Amino acid sequence: AKDTKNGAVVYEPATTAAPPSRLLLLGDLRRALAEAEELVLYYQPKVALASGELCGVEALVRWHHPTRGLVAPAEFVPMAENTGLINLLTTHVLGRAVAQASAWRAAGWTVPVAVNLSPRCLTDPALRDRVEGLLTEHRLPAQLLRLEVTESAVMANPALATATLRGLHRLGVRLSIDDYGTGYSSMAYLKQLPVDELKIDRSFVVNLSGADDDDAVLVRSAVDLGHNLGMTVVAEGVEHAGQVEALRRLGCDIAQGYHYARPEPADHLRPWLQPAPA
Ligand code: C2E
Ligand code: CA
Ligand code: CA
Ligand code: CA
Repeated sequence: AKDTKNGAVVYEPATTAAPPSRLLLLGDLRRALAEAEELVLYYQPKVALASGELCGVEALVRWHHPTRGLVAPAEFVPMAENTGLINLLTTHVLGRAVAQASAWRAAGWTVPVAVNLSPRCLTDPALRDRVEGLLTEHRLPAQLLRLEVTESAVMANPALATATLRGLHRLGVRLSIDDYGTGYSSMAYLKQLPVDELKIDRSFVVNLSGADDDDAVLVRSAVDLGHNLGMTVVAEGVEHAGQVEALRRLGCDIAQGYHYARPEPADHLRPWLQPAPA
């Protein structure tokens, strides 16, 4: 920093490269949400373990910040949750994801797209109508939209969350339990929820190797629980072929992770969407 003649301090680039204050980033986020062009969705394939086929994609938001580059959701989604901006962010993400699913469908590729919902969204009385409006606007069949919620988000307000999820389910939207195993949840609630997919958290998958270690036992019990409740079971964070083998052996249905693909911009998914040659 150097002093100017009026006493103000001008920061050199080296200084401005330090992390900006939360307040500054929050102002930026408000602006980004107002203009909405800096927020982009990346998509990560979900792959059927039996056939290797694409069975859906998860939309993951990134922020193309003008000076900070690509900002990960961990850096701004919690802030949006704490400042009431989350409903605006979710509306934006939903709009983009539904438009993308609709565009893929128009191009001949039927790919269900999953969107993450924050805990706060589950208590937003306007969510159902907004989702319905978007599906109508983009003429997307509801079953091509999937919404992912964590157990903790549901358990924060079980009655209200369950009502919201039932309303969405009645539209035909599919629902997933995200990060399964990290939160606390009771079987009683899981059983009542209109959820058809269980996503086992990455932390249980990361050390998965043999069939007789602790993580294998936990994954096996999650797979059994999911199947007994009529759900499809997805493993998150699959990075190695060894994990794929173990997951197949444990009866898991779907895998998602760097082993198959990282989250990428929509047009990078072309190779996955190309129908296999006959
Ligand atoms: P999540 O929903 O559990 O998403 C999976 C995260 O794991 C993503 O991180 C993804 O990039 C990462 N991942 C996928 N495969 C692998 C792998 O093989 N290894 C490792 N180490 N990581 C893998 P990302 O995109 O940084 O998102 C982090 C979290 O931010 C998400 O966790 C979700 O909770 C939240 N998030 C992302 N997009 C949105 C959004 O649009 N709305 C809301 N409310 N939350 C979002
Ligand atoms: Ca997710
Ligand atoms: Ca997850
Ligand atoms: Ca997570």
